[in-house]
Amino acid sequence: MVSIPLAAGDLRWAFPELADEGAVRAALLEADEQFRAVTALLRGPTGRPDGGFCFDQVDGIVSAGVTAFAEAADATVIAWLGFPRRCGWDLRWGPPWQVSAEIEVPCDRGDDCAGHLVADLTDSYLTPLAAARGLVTATGWLLGQIADGDRESWRPEPCD
Ligand SMILES: [Zn+2]
Repeated sequence: MVSIPLAAGDLRWAFPELADEGAVRAALLEADEQFRAVTALLRGPTGRPDGGFCFDQVDGIVSAGVTAFAEAADATVIAWLGFPRRCGWDLRWGPPWQVSAEIEVPCDRGDDCAGHLVADLTDSYLTPLAAARGLVTATGWLLGQIADGDRESWRPEPCD
């Protein structure tokens, strides 16, 4: 998989019929900046080349959206905007575009459990600009969760 930073990518990979990039790009860059702030607060290694959103390219096909994630010892944070393609052969795009943000924490069972989702925000949008602004809302929500969150409260009930 090749990761292409948002700023180096083509917004038409996510929004093929985008006529006017300006406002959409501005909103995506605002979300990107907020996610970098989340990454900085987590103080863990970033999952991305530059700490923000990337397009992913697999077998020459670029994802129909952008993803960012950051991992720390006590939490993994993921934010995404795109069309939920089912597999590598699915070449559809939005509308609708989905936006999601998630916080996952490791489980006491360690490697036996992939971790638990403790907070998430998802929404669906019919225009590129609404989706891009939705991503700003989602990354702002994440930033608030990470900045104000009592991380102890994220501890899941142990699973059996
Ligand atoms: Zn578990």
